[in-house]
Amino acid sequence: SLVPDYLADVLADVASDTSGELAGYIPELASADPDRLAAAFATVDGEVYGAGDIDAAFTIQSVSKPFAYALALSDRGFPAVLDKVGVEPSGEAFNEISLETGTGRPRNPMINAGAITVHSLAGADDPEPGARVERIVSGLSAFAGRPLRIDEAMCASEMDNAHRNLAIAHMLRSHGILTEDPRAVVDGYIRQCSVLVTPRDLAVMAGTLANGGVNPVTAERVVDAAVVRQVLSVMATCGMYDAAGDWATQVGIPAKSGVSGGLIGALPGQLGIATFSPRLDEHGNSARGVSLFERFTTDMGLHVMDVP
Ligand code: GLU
Repeated sequence: SLVPDYLADVLADVASDTSGELAGYIPELASADPDRLAAAFATVDGEVYGAGDIDAAFTIQSVSKPFAYALALSDRGFPAVLDKVGVEPSGEAFNEISLETGTGRPRNPMINAGAITVHSLAGADDPEPGARVERIVSGLSAFAGRPLRIDEAMCASEMDNAHRNLAIAHMLRSHGILTEDPRAVVDGYIRQCSVLVTPRDLAVMAGTLANGGVNPVTAERVVDAAVVRQVLSVMATCGMYDAAGDWATQVGIPAKSGVSGGLIGALPGQLGIATFSPRLDEHGNSARGVSLFERFTTDMGLHVMDVP
C-alpha cells in the first residue's frame, strides 16, 4: 500500500513546525516530549496504516469526550442524556463554565461542564464511582480493540490542579444537574482523561465511529448507529474548542482534539484518522495536527461538504 509512504511524506512536511506550546496547567503534561509526531488511518475495512510515533502512549484527555458521550447515550438512552446536556455549540474555550441560563444545563458534551456531566451518566443508574470508571475504561477499550489502562501519575497530577473543574462541578451540583458528590465525579472524569492511548488506538477508535459503531478491527459492535450519528454531529459542531467554525470550513471532518496533543477525525463510511503532536495552537488544538488534517482534506478530498 502507498498509504504509509504518503503519511511519512506529510509528516516530513510538517516536522519543522515547532510553533505552539505544551499545555501548562497540568505539570505532568507540561513535561511531555514536545517533538513526538504521528499520523494513523483506520479504514472501515479494518486496515490500519501509520507513520511516525504511532505506538507512543499518552493520556487521551478531551479526546475521551465523544466516546464517553457515546457510552452515556447507549447506557441511559437519549432522553436522559439530552435532559442534562445540550447540543448547541458554545463557541467558547473548553474550560468555560458556560451553562444555559435558567436550566443550568451545559451547552454541549465537548466542553468540560458537559463532559463532567456526561461522565456522571455513563454506566448504570447510580453506580458506585469505581464501577463507573471501570465501565468507561472498558468502553474506551472496546472502541480501541484492546485493553486500555489509566496513567495514575497523570491522574494525581491533574487532581491536584483541578480547581476549575471542581468549581464547574460544584456549579452543576448547585443547579441539580449533578446529583452526587462533585469531587467524586471530577475524580472519575479525570481518570477518564488519564486513560493511556497510542495514535494507533485513536485511529481505531475513530474508525469505529466511521464504521457506524462496529470496531472495524475486532468486528465488535460497541454502540448503535443512532448513537454514532449523534456523536459525530456534536463533534462536527463542537469538537474543536473555539475554532470549530474554522475547522468545519477548512477541514470539514467531524473531529475532537485534546490538550495532550491528540486529534481524531471520523469520516462516515470511510475512515478514522488520528494525529499526535503535543504543541498546541492558541485555541488549544495540536498545531501540527491541524496542519496534517488540512493536508489530508486537500490531498484526498475528504471534506464532508465536497460534492463527489
Ligand atoms: N483533563 C482536561 C481537563 O478537563 C482535559 C482538557 C482537554 O483535553 O481539553 O481540563
